[in-house]
Amino acid sequence: MELRLASSARSYTNYGLVACVALSLSLIQVTWAQVPGSPTLHIESTGNVVDLSWTAVSDADGYVLYYADYPDVAELGSVDLGATLAVSGELPPGSAYYVGVQAYNGEGVGMFSNVDYFSLPSTLEPSPGDLCSADPQDARFAWPLPGQNGRDWTISNYVDLTPGTGISDYASAHGVPGKAYDGHNGVDIAIPTFREQDRGVGIYAIQGGVVVDVKQSFPDRATSCQSNDWNVVTVRHADGTLVYYGHMKSQSAAVEEGQTVVKGDLLGQVGSSGCSTAPHLHLELRSPGNEVIDPFRDQLWCDAPAYEFPLSVFTGVLLEAPANQYANAIKDPPPDVKSVPLGASLVPILHSANGAAFDSVGLKLLRPDGSTQVDTSFTLPASGRHGVWIFNTGTLNQSGIWTVHYLANSVTQYLLQVEVVEE
Ligand SMILES: [Zn+2]
Repeated sequence: MELRLASSARSYTNYGLVACVALSLSLIQVTWAQVPGSPTLHIESTGNVVDLSWTAVSDADGYVLYYADYPDVAELGSVDLGATLAVSGELPPGSAYYVGVQAYNGEGVGMFSNVDYFSLPSTLEPSPGDLCSADPQDARFAWPLPGQNGRDWTISNYVDLTPGTGISDYASAHGVPGKAYDGHNGVDIAIPTFREQDRGVGIYAIQGGVVVDVKQSFPDRATSCQSNDWNVVTVRHADGTLVYYGHMKSQSAAVEEGQTVVKGDLLGQVGSSGCSTAPHLHLELRSPGNEVIDPFRDQLWCDAPAYEFPLSVFTGVLLEAPANQYANAIKDPPPDVKSVPLGASLVPILHSANGAAFDSVGLKLLRPDGSTQVDTSFTLPASGRHGVWIFNTGTLNQSGIWTVHYLANSVTQYLLQVEVVEE
């Protein structure tokens, strides 16, 4: 068997370069084993109480719940729950676990459900940033996207503060290029792929004001800058500042022109309309005199995301080779492959967020018997933003369930499984 992994990974930042690994393999019809299918897992948490539920799978006799520490998967634990379809429990503050469910019957064990995680607050007291964000009287700004830096969103570009030619941002040292592009007048906040855009990622008002413009009829799946027609909600603050929430998803506006909003109100959803290469929010602030305002330089956030943030796996994608059979495997991937014939190859794609020079992203592929087929990593050459890494798995020559680990600094942060089926 021949593995050429080191030479087959490509990376790029901010979609500057798209490179796919192409492996020649024709699609072969898939046959399913007689084991049960995979359930869909749903997690909800309120305070310290976690509720897990999953969909019933036909032919299943029971379900096994697997759990492992988040984000560092040290050891996998499991509990057989019989025919139960939901569990609920109160856990200590700060508990964080990956969870996944497998169905079983007399024929064997099915594939994992989606593997998800929960992370309970380490204390039930809100942080000062949360208090500021929730207080409409507080003049500081709340963050416009939900979730966590590096998992749900990442900052791909700051405001370029160098007049004319040249790039710098609020934090870049003199002579060092900033995380921006020349002439960028806003803050770009990226989500991983179009999958997340399709699911719907809300955009929330950073401060109260009056909605002065709503555009939402333009196409929202741009992957290059071919049109300036973007969907946007524009809010004017009491001090006259105009805030543009740009590139929104088509028909996603949650407000109307003339409407008054308060901090935290839903305005619309993240999209890729207008001059946009991938789904993201372009947040631009202008003074009444039309001067660009940089909310980072001017310290306008309640709880500004740190400029340097630990590397993480933004998301993982798993496709059957060759990648070039898909229209846009990186930005707009189809659903992850769940089953491939014996002898197929895979194309795992890792989206990374943040990180610094000498951090590493990696991939581990384990065979059904637990042995290792792939264990490889790549070092970031410089401070990262949104990066994409494409791997090559070689031929999958053992039937059963294979497990793909997506790693950040050697720690599994994302897991996917695929069943290899003998014809
Ligand atoms: Zn932008």
